[in-house]
Order: sequence, then structure tokens, then C-alpha cells
Amino acid sequence: MNYTESREHSAEILRAVLGHLGQHDAAFNPVSFALWYEHLAGINPALTQALTPLLLGGRRLTDAEVLQLFRSHIAPLDQQAVEKISGRFTQTMIGLAESALRTGDDAGRFGDQLNGLAEALRSGGVDGLSPQLNLALENTAGMRSSAHALQQQVASSRVQIDQLQAELGRARHEALLDPLTRVLNRRGFDQRLAMMLQQPMQADRTHCLIMFDIDHFKRVNDTHGHVTGDRVIQALGEVLRTCISADNCTVARYGGEEFAVLVPQSTLVQSAALAESVRQHTRAMKIRNRKTQDVLLMVTVSAGVAGMNGSDDALSLIARADGALYQSKQAGRDRVSCA
Ligand code: GH3
Ligand code: MG
Ligand code: MG
Repeated sequence: MNYTESREHSAEILRAVLGHLGQHDAAFNPVSFALWYEHLAGINPALTQALTPLLLGGRRLTDAEVLQLFRSHIAPLDQQAVEKISGRFTQTMIGLAESALRTGDDAGRFGDQLNGLAEALRSGGVDGLSPQLNLALENTAGMRSSAHALQQQVASSRVQIDQLQAELGRARHEALLDPLTRVLNRRGFDQRLAMMLQQPMQADRTHCLIMFDIDHFKRVNDTHGHVTGDRVIQALGEVLRTCISADNCTVARYGGEEFAVLVPQSTLVQSAALAESVRQHTRAMKIRNRKTQDVLLMVTVSAGVAGMNGSDDALSLIARADGALYQSKQAGRDRVSCA
């Protein structure tokens, strides 16, 4: 975030920030400070949107809530990536500024020369004019060459800045991916869910959330070890990617051995059919010993499907999909239930 507020304006915001900090349970640290500053300065609409409902009814924010908001809306990137990119960005800008300064110096010398020339003309000393003219001509050539150098520097800086922007975009995207499965991580899921909830629903359509949880996964780890457990999670990620290929759908690793799928503008029946195809493909999947190719194990998943109704928010929709998933587990696992 670029803070461009003037000293006076930032002092006003500071006073307001101090007032808010005191009304909450979170510590008075830079994380809280940045949160309130960006909210009160009105420079981070996504943060304000996420924060506003949390403040209803005079609720007091905890350290955990403040940190979560900070990570989601202020500094969501991997810190190392940010430092690398901003370091290179700074170098590019320093290079550009140095060139501009050099050109500025040359322009200053040229200006002095022109003043001298004007002075010589005013005093009518034609004899003194010739050396002044020669100097002015030399300086014109110098100016032209440094202006050309600046132009080149600007052009190459533009290329570098474009590259850095693309790199920042990739780093931002990477920060939303789960490294094991390459589907979205929880943060990416939260963002997409918030976006889906804001989309108006078409007639006879609803936005659906499907939660998947691998059955008896603890046993997989206990019997075959965590490395094989990780391979199972990866394989389910693949199954989900294959079965849920529509562009408007989102597949995410919700946590541990749980996945979530968002199906906007759908019906409960359609989404349950999608969940069912994932269930069947998972059942058919065989995890093999890499050397011998012998089948090591087979797994099943349980699923819960919920369709959004008018009064749902993210938490209530997740809770209903979770409730449906719990029903699937209770009824014997390896099945799909609808809320
Ligand atoms: P249920 O059918 O009721 O879902 O039983 P479960 O054994 O799958 O559920 P439980 O919640 O008891 O166990 C989930 C296990 O998943 C416990 C945890 O160690 C394991 N787990 C969570 N994340 C990972 C991971 O990234 N890799 C591996 N290998 N295991 C994980
Ligand atoms: Mg679980
Ligand atoms: Mg499980």
C-alpha cells in the first residue's frame, strides 16, 4: 500500500486510529495500527468491507481477528517475495531518478548559459557574443545527448517495471495456492467465496458450496506414513481438478484432508451430481507403490452440499455444508448429503 496522505491529514487519521485501538481487545501493535489506519483513511475498500460486519453491535476485535484481517487484506504475500520484488523496484526507480538528476544538472548548466547569452545581448556587447554562442551550442548538444540517455533509461525502466508487475502478479497468485495440490489454499477460498456471495443469483439458481473430507484418513497416515498420506491428498486434488473443470467453479484445499468446491449459479441437484462424480472417481482411484506398482491403498470421500439462501453469509453457508458432510460421515461415509 502506498500511503500518500499529507502530514496533516495523517495526523487526523492517527487521532482516529488511537480512538479505535482503545475500543478493542487486540494489542496496540503495528499490525493493529496498519489495520485501523487503512480502514479509517478509506484507502483499502476490501478491508473496510470485511471489517464492517465484524464491528456490528460494538464487538471488540481480538488479536487473532486483527491478524487474520491483516493477512487477508493488508499483507497477504509471502514476505520474502515482497522484499525481493520491492528491492528490485527500488533499484529501478533509483536508476531512473539518477538519470533524471543528471539531465536536470545539464539543463541547469544550459539555463545558466542562456542567461549569460541574454545578458550579453542586453548589454549590446556584440564582441562578447561569439564565445557565449559557442558555449550555448555546445551545451545544446550536451542537453540533447543527456535527454536521449534519459529517454532510453525511461524506456528500459518501463520494461523492468512491467516485468516486476508481472512477477508481483505471479507472487500474489502463488500466495493463494496450496503448495501440495496446486489448488487454491484457504485464503484463496475465502476470497472466492466472498466474491461468489456478492454475485446476484439468477432465477431458479443458487450458489453452492461442496465440502469434501477423506474418510478414515488418520488410518492412512498411521498405516502407510505421512508421505503416502500426502500423495493421497495430492491425488484427490487431481480428481477434483478433473471432475470440476468449469471455469466458474473453484476448487480449494480447505485444510488438512478437507477440500471445498464453489459452484456459482447452480442447483442443489447439479452440485450434488458433481459431488457424486468426485466420490466415484475417488473410489476408483488406486494409490500404487512407486517401485512395484502394486496397489497400496484405496480411499473414499464423504461430501456435504449446501445451496445459498437469501440470508446466508460465508459462515452460515460453510456451517450448513459442514452439517451435511457430518450427516454423510454419520450415515457410514463414502456418500454425498445435501443440507
Ligand atoms: P473421518 O472419516 O471421520 O474424517 O476420519 P479421519 O481419520 O479422516 O479424520 P481425523 O480428523 O480424525 O483425521 C484427519 C487426519 O488428517 C489427522 C491429520 O494428521 C491428517 N492430516 C491433516 N493434514 C495432513 C497433511 O497435510 N498430510 C498428511 N499426511 N496428513 C494430514
Ligand atoms: Mg477432517
Ligand atoms: Mg477425514
